[in-house]
Amino acid sequence: MKIKFCGAAQEVTGSAHHLLINDSFSVLLDCGLFQGIDEAEALNRKWGFEPKDLDCLILSHAHIDHCGRIPKLVKEGFRGKIYCTPATRSLATILLLDSAKIQENDAEYENKKLAKRKHGEFEKVQPLYTISDVLKCLNLFITISYETEFKINNHLSFKFRDAGHILGSASVFLNIHEEDKNFSLVFSGDLGRPNRPILRDPHPFRSC
Ligand SMILES: [Zn+2]
Repeated sequence: MKIKFCGAAQEVTGSAHHLLINDSFSVLLDCGLFQGIDEAEALNRKWGFEPKDLDCLILSHAHIDHCGRIPKLVKEGFRGKIYCTPATRSLATILLLDSAKIQENDAEYENKKLAKRKHGEFEKVQPLYTISDVLKCLNLFITISYETEFKINNHLSFKFRDAGHILGSASVFLNIHEEDKNFSLVFSGDLGRPNRPILRDPHPFRSC
């Protein structure tokens, strides 16, 4: 198994971690947007893998720094399934539509500024993605409840466990079978704190 950290490394946004299992099955854990740093614009336009080569995406929760580049991933060729909890799908739909509106407005603002400055022909700034791109990715979502083992194939099964961070947030417990070996890998995602109103306490994985 190979793990590549493509975001949320040496900083906290842009969560995206690539697993290559058995040298053939390609999984992305989270597909977040880089936010709040000078390099965000450039980082959001490159990957570290080929979107069309991914087999699936497993999503920990709906915050934009964990799911905010899904429409761009789909726009650039990803056609696999997106696995998440039911509440994450509901929240991600709202957040991604909002994010697309912000991307569209930002591009429009930049283009107005350029038009004033350049007085004529200029290359227009394109939004990272649009509302129409978001609508195209919604039917790729498959929802799986907490604590339900889901087998993707003979190499990978996983279950979500309540991370107590926001509604629907999950840690992901992956069971990986490669040649004659079995591995367990836990992707915590963002963890919440105990004794919060409304949210359940984070449910630890004692075995990791
Ligand atoms: Zn979060």
